[in-house]
Amino acid sequence: MRALAKTAPEVGLSLVERPVPRPGPGEVLVRVTASSICGTDVHIYNWDEWSQGRIKPPVVLGHEFAGEVVALGDGVGDLALGTPVSAECHVLLPDARNVVHGQEHLAKDMVVIGIDRDGAFAEYVCVPRPSLWINPPDLAPEIASLQDPFGNAVHTVHAQNVVGKRVLITGAGLIGLMAVPVARAAGAAAVYVTDLNPGRLEMALKMGADLALDAREDPVARLMAATDGAGVDVLLEMSGAAPAIDQGFKALRPGGEAAILGLPSRPIQVDWAAHIVTKGATVRGIYGRKIWDTWHIMRALLATGAVDLAPLITHRFALSEFQAGFDAMLSGESGKVILIP
Ligand code: ZN
Repeated sequence: MRALAKTAPEVGLSLVERPVPRPGPGEVLVRVTASSICGTDVHIYNWDEWSQGRIKPPVVLGHEFAGEVVALGDGVGDLALGTPVSAECHVLLPDARNVVHGQEHLAKDMVVIGIDRDGAFAEYVCVPRPSLWINPPDLAPEIASLQDPFGNAVHTVHAQNVVGKRVLITGAGLIGLMAVPVARAAGAAAVYVTDLNPGRLEMALKMGADLALDAREDPVARLMAATDGAGVDVLLEMSGAAPAIDQGFKALRPGGEAAILGLPSRPIQVDWAAHIVTKGATVRGIYGRKIWDTWHIMRALLATGAVDLAPLITHRFALSEFQAGFDAMLSGESGKVILIP
């Protein structure tokens, strides 16, 4: 089969020929029908510092995907061939350390499909049965392939009650954009977005934001005006950028709540006294997505039409045209890029 792999410790990826994997005990072989490129894949493509510490070439990339079951390993008897599936890319380890029930997504020694073991930028991928999620038969594979990042957006929005609240999303990356309709569907009174990229701000409006503000044009003043001087009730921080985090907390009302998903690339300064202590703010770190709570919410949001992710998909390429797909991601001008094996 064809597969897209990091084959050496260097920038770039290679299209390789591999034998179709055989599912081991407790595993399922999935024929991939669509996969999507994640920001994490771009980090690995670029062979950045994080990748150098984590990735052990050769490894087939790809952790956001949809497909259908084509073979079962020993001990798996509960799935019909042809069942449409996606997967939680974090493989659930029964003996994982430091795990509290309901917080398996925070386990320290997680194995991730397409990062620590071969992934879904290929015609076939082997997935442990406990990591599989059964998709509705009428869900388009390219939409189904977006559920990993979609789950992060759902987890971030639902980390606090947003009913009737005015919500600010700092950072219109793909997860930030997905959070817009999720917050709306959860009953937010208004959703505001800040970013530096005009294309992304346009997409935020398309996804249902009330205001999409250029972070260079004093968004705090505009947010204060939009909220009659009160400030926003909830901050969803998706950028990992120190200036955006500062703006977000400045716009947050006293007693407000903040859910922080964005990862700064190095330690940053925060005005602890003004932004958190004297503001009486509640701040939550968000990592990964709750397994399987977020997946059930996603299924409902997609099935009812409360959330439409289709506008986020801007490019589709065959796996053999992966370079064009990564170039689109690297340009910063793309939404989600789909690869079809
Ligand atoms: Zn991802």
